[in-house]
Amino acid sequence: MTVCAPPASFPISVQTLIVGAGACGLIAALSAHEAGQQVLVVERDPVPSGSTALSAGLIPAAGTAIQRAAGIDDTPARFAADIQAKADGENDPALVALLAEGAGDVIDWLVRDHGLPFSLVDDFDYPGHARRRMHGLPSRSGRELVDALRAACEAEGIDILCDTRADRLYADGPRVRGISTLRGDMREDIGCDRLILACNGYGGNRARVARHMPDIEGALWFGHDGNTGDALDWGEALGAQTRHLGAYQGHGNVAHPHGILITWATMTAGGIQLNAAGQRFHDESHGYSEAARAVLAQPGGTAVSVFDARIAAIARQFQDFRDAEAQGAIKTAGSLADLAVAFKLPADALAATVAACHKGADPFGRTFDIPPLAAPFHGVRVTGALFHTQGGLVVGADARVLDAADAPFPNLYAAGGAACGVSGAGDAGYLSGNGLLAAVVLGRIAGLG
Ligand SMILES: Cc1cc2nc3c(=O)[nH]c(=O)nc-3n(C[C@H](O)[C@H](O)[C@H](O)COP(=O)(O)OP(=O)(O)OC[C@H]3O[C@@H](n4cnc5c(N)ncnc54)[C@H](O)[C@@H]3O)c2cc1C
Repeated sequence: MTVCAPPASFPISVQTLIVGAGACGLIAALSAHEAGQQVLVVERDPVPSGSTALSAGLIPAAGTAIQRAAGIDDTPARFAADIQAKADGENDPALVALLAEGAGDVIDWLVRDHGLPFSLVDDFDYPGHARRRMHGLPSRSGRELVDALRAACEAEGIDILCDTRADRLYADGPRVRGISTLRGDMREDIGCDRLILACNGYGGNRARVARHMPDIEGALWFGHDGNTGDALDWGEALGAQTRHLGAYQGHGNVAHPHGILITWATMTAGGIQLNAAGQRFHDESHGYSEAARAVLAQPGGTAVSVFDARIAAIARQFQDFRDAEAQGAIKTAGSLADLAVAFKLPADALAATVAACHKGADPFGRTFDIPPLAAPFHGVRVTGALFHTQGGLVVGADARVLDAADAPFPNLYAAGGAACGVSGAGDAGYLSGNGLLAAVVLGRIAGLG
């Protein structure tokens, strides 16, 4: 990914050029179009997908009309406090406030102006969120989210050029002039008045993962392969400021070997994780991000997630969970003894572990203020995975990229996974939904310009 001097002229030029057609790029496109800009989105894949399509598509937002209708008293300030608490205060407070304050408006706008049928996840709590504020589309899948956003762009007549990879950026000093794209072996230069980098982070770039986050380097990569860190490469070449490059979201509940995300609701609603000895090894009520390393540290790098029919009924709202059931990843047992056989766990240890979950002080500090697990039981073998990176280019309140002296580049924006998010410096600072939060709010701000 290189930065070059611009050609004498461009065959085509647009006002707002956006690289990447995930949630961030598509929301930026809708917003720029709304602001009266002529917009073009370039996307390297044949169909807009990105990590957005792999996600559950859940967006946290405080103070939405949907929350109010559900009688939930929530505020951006409370949301911001939750974000900072999870990250031990490592985030830039101004960025946290910007995202927490902007999210509610984005959800209300997508419902009102583009007809996206969001609803609230109201039957279980996400760790670290003081209120129920996860908004999702009916299937609780990011595929539905990105398809709905693409359809909204198409309805507005916004051009999305697929199968087109941006591989060069043209700049005169700090001012971006355009990009060069490859479509098959056809090269085309596109000029722009402003450029929005919505091409996510660098989880698909093994060298960068090894350099910035060696503790998760060997884990399953579960994000979008096309997110190879192009925004970061260009930004660094231009002298942009970067932050928290070691930050990432992991997940400790990916069905193995099926490779299907098992919602963490299975844990927060009362499930537990066991190692090959039939023993628990961490507090499952903490976040799923740091659980990735906890699972990977167990023998074989796997664990068995155990829950029951009550919890499965909650988890079944997620398309991924239904897929995991359809593929046989989730096994059902009428008794703990049968569950032990199904997963080759020592039966006595399994029974003792489950019985201990509601007795006295938990060695890992978990408070089991939930119904005890009851037959029939469900189990799924899982591993830990890397989902997406959370560090990146530092942006200001208008989503323009900042240089080392905190001055904004005149017409270069970064949003979503291309920008530094609000998940602190490592893996434990990720509060559920931080990924799409940065994608939709910074995408909206960058698009409006
Ligand atoms: C399994 C999984 C589950 C998740 N669940 C959630 C969740 O429920 N809630 C949540 O908040 N977050 C979740 N996340 C994180 C969330 O998906 C991301 O943070 C979010 O989708 C980022 O959006 P984006 O638009 O920045 O990136 P993406 O959706 O990845 O879009 C970036 C696009 O840029 C394209 N691109 C990259 N480089 C170029 C280039 N040079 N030229 C052209 N195109 C390029 C890519 O092909 C891609 O389509 C999850 C992630 C994963 C992997």
